[in-house]
This record gives sequence, C-alpha cells and structure tokens, in this order.
Amino acid sequence: MKIIDTPEEMQKQARLLIQSGEDIGFVPTMGCLHEGHLSLIRIAKEYADAVVVSIFVNPAQFGPNEDLDAYPRDFERDEKLCRETGADFLFYPTPQNMYLDGHSLWLSEESLSTVLCGASRPGHFRGVCTVVAKLLNIVMPDVMVLGEKDAQQLRVLRRMVRDLNFPVKIIAAPTVREADGLAMSSRNKYLTPAERKEAVCLSRSLEKAKALFAAGERDAERIKAAMRAVIEKTSGRIDYLEIVDDETLQCVSKLENPALTALAVKFSGARLIDNAVLR
Ligand code: AMP
Repeated sequence: MKIIDTPEEMQKQARLLIQSGEDIGFVPTMGCLHEGHLSLIRIAKEYADAVVVSIFVNPAQFGPNEDLDAYPRDFERDEKLCRETGADFLFYPTPQNMYLDGHSLWLSEESLSTVLCGASRPGHFRGVCTVVAKLLNIVMPDVMVLGEKDAQQLRVLRRMVRDLNFPVKIIAAPTVREADGLAMSSRNKYLTPAERKEAVCLSRSLEKAKALFAAGERDAERIKAAMRAVIEKTSGRIDYLEIVDDETLQCVSKLENPALTALAVKFSGARLIDNAVLR
C-alpha cells in the first residue's frame, strides 16, 4: 500500500492507474477507522482494480463550536487497518495542502442540504461538497463507496455528482452496527460508559418506527411520538427527529412514498446520528 500526502502525487498515481486501464475505487473517510469504514473498503475492492482510501479531517465541514480539534485521530492504527483490508493507496493530505492560502471557492447544494443535519450544522454540507469535489478531482475514481449511515450526506453527494456531471458511480453501503444495534461511529469513543449503554436508544427508536410502519401505521406524527418516547427515557437530548420524503428530504405527514426517518441525539460526549428508510 502506497501512502501519499500531496494532491499532486495522488493525481499522478491516479493518471498512471487510468493509463494502465485499471478501475479506481474510492473510500473517503475522516480516519479513526472502524468496521463500518472497512466494509466500504471491501465493497470498493469488489468494484475496482485499485482502491484508494483517503483520511482527511476536513476543517471546512466543522462549525466554529464543533469538535474539529477533539476529533479522534490515530494514523498508525488506520494505516495498519487499511493495509490489512487491502487498500492500494492511502491518501493522507494536510489541511495546508488541501486548502491553499486564499482558497476562495466553495460548492453549495441548495435543497437537500437545508434540512436535518444541514439545519443544525450550518455550512456543514458546503464543506462536505467542496472537499469531496476536490477529492474526486484528485483521485479520479470510477466508483466511490459511501455509507448509508450518513444518509443525508449520501443523498447530497449523489445530487452533486448528478448535477455537476462527475464521472463517478456512487455505491451505498449498509450501516455496520455494534452487537446491541448502535451504529458504528468514530464519535462513539466520546461517550461515557453510561451514555454508551443509553446510545442504543437511536437504533431502538428506528426499530420502533419500522415495527409501527410494518403494522400499517402511516401517520408520521404518531411514529415520531413513539420514537421520541424511546429517546426521552435516556439522558440524550434530541437535536432533530424527522420523517422526510426519501427523494426530496421534505417533511411528510402521511407515509405514502418511501420515507427516510432520521435523528440526531446529543449526549454530553457526542452528537450521534442514525436513520432508516421506511418503504
Ligand atoms: P467518516 O469517517 O465518519 O466521515 O465516514 C466515512 C465514510 O464511512 C462515510 O461514507 C460514512 O457514511 C461511512 N460510515 C461511517 N460509519 C459507518 C457505519 N457504521 N457503517 C457503514 N458506513 C459507515
């Protein structure tokens, strides 16, 4: 596995791969890798000849009062995991290399980004779109694998790729969970032991929604009330809990088309997100 730390060198390597007829698979991450990330690398290997993993804690997608400095980083462990999982290239640029002095161009998606995490984290998706567009120009992949865990990010990036004609196919990978149902996340490390136990409430509330939906319930308010009741038994504070149309991400009151139920819950140590599609 080659480790590359400048965009120029990564582009050079990508050109060589393309010239030799190899398909490039790409897994963008912020590091502190867990089994969820590794599942994306394995999927990328199925679709491509050469797999590039990027590790970049993107300052542009963090708000001023968010956890940029505290975000967990462990490059040595990540490098070992990437190697063991079969990545061919690890792209690990510095913020200075990614954002040159005077960087002044930003990409904003203006519809899907305005709700859910976009509403509670202003500027977040502008940072995500900008960095992923840059990474696509640097890595030039045929296939990019993204996790369904970040459902809104997946939909926003699909829209960006569609609307700006990026020549890349996006593959969505299912959410990998801990044994008790908690979605794996680098931020789970921030939870206190008591909060870690309570954090299962996110997936439990989604299970509740799925069970109600399966039993024929189509009223969004009733499903949301049942979900809220699960969270409110814990010390977690609901940041948002919504049922939205899976295509437009606009709130729905009756579940007639596929709907996305998504929530963010704040614990003292971390803000966690999870989601499920009801169809
Ligand atoms: P992150 O490092 O958190 O920015 O995530 C990098 C990629 O891994 C994104 O496409 C995420 O959606 C995906 N991802 C994060 N957690 C999981 C998980 N538990 N299961 C599957 N994919 C995940």
